[in-house]
Amino acid sequence: MKPAPFDYVVPDSLTAVLAALSQHGDEAKLLAGGQSLIPAMNFRLARPGVLVDINRLEGELGYIKATADGGLRLGALTRHYQMERSPLVAQHDPLLWQMMPHIAHPQIRNRGTLGGSLAHADPAAELPLWAVARQATLTIQSSGGSRQVAAPDFFTGLFATDLAADEMVTEIAVAPLPPRSGTGFVEMARRHGDYALAGVAAIVTLATDGTCAAARLVCLNVGEVPLVAEQAGAVLLGRRPTAHLFAAAAELAAREEIDPTDDIHASAAYKRHLIKVLTQRALVQAFEAVKN
Ligand code: FAD
Repeated sequence: MKPAPFDYVVPDSLTAVLAALSQHGDEAKLLAGGQSLIPAMNFRLARPGVLVDINRLEGELGYIKATADGGLRLGALTRHYQMERSPLVAQHDPLLWQMMPHIAHPQIRNRGTLGGSLAHADPAAELPLWAVARQATLTIQSSGGSRQVAAPDFFTGLFATDLAADEMVTEIAVAPLPPRSGTGFVEMARRHGDYALAGVAAIVTLATDGTCAAARLVCLNVGEVPLVAEQAGAVLLGRRPTAHLFAAAAELAAREEIDPTDDIHASAAYKRHLIKVLTQRALVQAFEAVKN
């Protein structure tokens, strides 16, 4: 397959990238790792008139930094493999660390970027799920200035985000997890590296008396955007973690909170079943991971 004809520019600076976006508007597309955009162009699902290659910004926007309070700041051009191998990610963001090996294959992780995955907003992609679960803050820049948006507000629909045509994601930041927190992530894919049929991320915090002080459950690929199972999380609050409690939360998430549809990979009923099973497993992982 060959893409439709396009112009190609490779700016040397962020200022020049933003100027190109402002000049070409809807006609332009940023090229990061190219792992989603190039296949879409080859299938003629995307036909940008101008490709603005941002790979020369890798030195400027390919970073992972710990903040003084124990959070993380990641540049938008951070490649998947950098997150997968980063001791900072392992130490400060166990959820991201748990997710990385599930994303595609090593070749794709060598090129794919955090900003590209978030901007692509595939409902089956792990990084948007992580960003919503961790309530990450995205920094978005254009020639006109900079703004910040919370990840749950960034994803607006199927492959749709809050980004305007002249804007680019430049940084993603997460706060530290509270003390006595644990995370869990499980997904079901037909083969390792495939996009998941469904998945669940869990972040929990224990109070000093051993009851659950906070719980955030987010479901993958059962709606247009990562779906927060708020009622299921609320059921856990103030209670001691038990298998019985996890089953009740999972039942609620699967029955009341998700909106799966049939697709060529799995029926809606099967996805509901998966969410029920995976919620319980993610909760077991998360509570077992709590460091006292
Ligand atoms: P690109 O393809 O370069 O760009 C994607 C979109 O984002 C484009 O519209 C582009 O204009 C825009 N964009 C890029 N950077 C920015 C930015 N900084 N600001 C604003 N817009 C931007 N992903 C998963 O999550 N899980 C999987 O299991 C998985 N499996 C895969 C299997 C295969 C075979 C392939 C080819 C890909 C798979 N992917 C999977 C996708 C992969 O993770 C992609 O790398 C990722 O989704 C897109 O990142 P990219 O840097 O390649 O973006």
